[in-house]
Amino acid sequence: MKQQHVVVTGGAGFVGSHLCERLIADGHRVTCLDNFLTSTPDNLAGFAAHPDFSFVRCDLTEFLHVPGPVDLVLHFASPASPIDYLKLPIQTLKVGAIGTWHALGLAKEKGARFLLASTSEVYGDPQVHPQPEEYWGHVNPLGPRGVYDEAKRYAEALTTAYRTSEGLDTAIVRIFNTYGPRMRPADGRAIPTFVRQALAGEPLTVAGDGSQTRSVCFVSDTVEGVLRLAFSELPGPVNIGNPDERTVLAIAQDVLALTGSVSGIEFVERPQDDPKVRRPDTTKARELLGWEPRVGWRDGLKQTVDWFRTAVPTQSAALHG
Ligand code: NAD
Repeated sequence: MKQQHVVVTGGAGFVGSHLCERLIADGHRVTCLDNFLTSTPDNLAGFAAHPDFSFVRCDLTEFLHVPGPVDLVLHFASPASPIDYLKLPIQTLKVGAIGTWHALGLAKEKGARFLLASTSEVYGDPQVHPQPEEYWGHVNPLGPRGVYDEAKRYAEALTTAYRTSEGLDTAIVRIFNTYGPRMRPADGRAIPTFVRQALAGEPLTVAGDGSQTRSVCFVSDTVEGVLRLAFSELPGPVNIGNPDERTVLAIAQDVLALTGSVSGIEFVERPQDDPKVRRPDTTKARELLGWEPRVGWRDGLKQTVDWFRTAVPTQSAALHG
């Protein structure tokens, strides 16, 4: 494929940094826009000096300028872990609304294709299981998670409006829970929390009785799915996630087994509006993009634990974690 200039907003984050790295490895030129609201420069360390990579520190809700032609805008900037968006509710709504508006404006100015990183959270606490793209969701706009869910729902509506009324070439990917190296140990999501607790010899805090389910996808698989959609001409929305569903308790038990930790499990109160089940219907990703997750649960968990053992102690502290 001919080299493209790809702008990645939120490119210093967990998923965004893997995206930047993969795009550079595939021979593209990448401009990453980020303000390190929920990340640190450590995520960029492995490729920051690459000649095809440039970084612009900016807040997407304020001003957005990228010189020269741009082929593709991947809009990933947004707090994404519950701990972050509960702490940063206004910033989350602003980047979902104003940040998305600015990123769409950039794509329009440059005649570029635009891809919105949406989320399985648009399905809320779903009453349809597994969730196909046609499902409208079950979201509590006034609940604590509403700031994230509604920001993403608004961002989807805005993206769709630019497609229908401005003729912008857009795509929407609905990403389900993703895990892997570069997650922050204190970002509040189940897997990094359990791994951090297990390695520190602390009890693993399982919410409720742990029977709620999650379907977790290894980050390299998520990136592959995102890029297949980005480099297609499809508008989406397309679910990208691993349909291999497991309970939160089983995830905790696997972390204990893999780390060899004897720290045990402590059951704690479940957060409000915590989804009871979550599993993507990936028919569209399979049929339209030829995409399926490749990394098995144990392999992905091992890579994550290995990274937490080696890299985490040397990372600088995140601003909000
Ligand atoms: P993350 O917090 O690691 O990354 C988000 C990045 O956006 C951070 O680097 C942060 O500094 C940046 N950012 C936030 N507000 C900004 C602003 N106003 N201006 C500039 N930069 C800003 O989160 P992540 O897990 O990598 O998620 C990335 C994207 O993928 C998010 O849009 C999220 O909604 C989506 N997503 C992630 C998952 C997942 O499991 N990780 C699941 C579904 C959707």
